[in-house]
Amino acid sequence: YADLAMYQAKAEGRNTMRFYSPEMDSISWNNISLEADLRKAIAQEQFELYYQPQIDLATGAIAGAEALLRWRRPEFGLTSPNVFIDIAEETGLINEIGAWVLAKACRQAAAWQSLGLAPLRISVNLSPLQFLRQDIVQVVENTLEETGLDPGFLELELTEGSLLKDVERTRQVLRSLKELGVRVAIDDFGVGFSSLSYLKNFDVDTLKIDRSFISSLLAGSRDEAIVRAIISLARSLELKVIAEGVETNPQLACLLSHACNEAQGYLFSRPVPSGIFESLLRDDPRYLLRNQGALPKKA
Ligand code: C2E
Ligand code: MG
Ligand code: MG
Ligand code: MG
Repeated sequence: YADLAMYQAKAEGRNTMRFYSPEMDSISWNNISLEADLRKAIAQEQFELYYQPQIDLATGAIAGAEALLRWRRPEFGLTSPNVFIDIAEETGLINEIGAWVLAKACRQAAAWQSLGLAPLRISVNLSPLQFLRQDIVQVVENTLEETGLDPGFLELELTEGSLLKDVERTRQVLRSLKELGVRVAIDDFGVGFSSLSYLKNFDVDTLKIDRSFISSLLAGSRDEAIVRAIISLARSLELKVIAEGVETNPQLACLLSHACNEAQGYLFSRPVPSGIFESLLRDDPRYLLRNQGALPKKA
């Protein structure tokens, strides 16, 4: 009953809040009921993964899929991680949820590959708590073994919360992940407190340009200057660049003009359930050619 004890301690902690206001009370009550529901969600398997394609801008092919967590919460419907990821992190529930996400995503990618549906890369978001666990490398290694996914097809997406904590420890974990053959991306690149120092300190494979730079991206804009600089920086460091949140043709044109490697966004597809993602893969005639060896396979 360690979990229950922790839950009670949390609840008591919240009750002893010193600056009281009715509004706070309702916020903390919402959070407590969210927390209780989240615990049930794990036991009752209410989580699902949606997948969003990452498009190779040189070929137009689907190069990867980002796995995005969804919670089918009774009485609320399909719930975005923005609503519950902070609580999951605060309560430590993210460990269990994150392990489930990792295994599910790897198993799905391995299944798509064994159907002959393109050598697809799968991207998985890791929460800071998950990344900073002592056994994170072991967890990743075991998951790859259990699911049979080739490590080169797994990309772990890290945000500032993971990178800011402890430089030495982070370097060490990144080195071990690299030895496993797993790829690492910096998510939401550019909005962090010290984006450039992450590049100085950490050996990663991919930068994902934050959506905030893409949403008003137009030729001649300040955003264009920033995006161009990020792409050129990435090229110098031999990193792949993915633009997040591409919604319009002018944004895409601008990214193409700067030879951005990949793009992801509603312009191509929203995140979709696995069955729909599979039909996106099947509809892409390039996968047939790749299977025939007529087009190069790529990670
Ligand atoms: P993220 O990793 O930066 O994921 C991108 C978010 O942008 C996703 O939101 C995606 O649905 C959304 N998005 C993609 N294309 C567009 C677009 O063209 N326009 C707009 N407006 N939005 C777009 P989502 O799925 O709600 O996820 C939000 C955040 O929650 C993620 O941001 C990530 O930080 C976190 N998250 C999602 N799944 C997981 C997970 O399995 N584990 C952890 N720890 N965090 C997760
Ligand atoms: Mg992400
Ligand atoms: Mg992002
Ligand atoms: Mg984000």
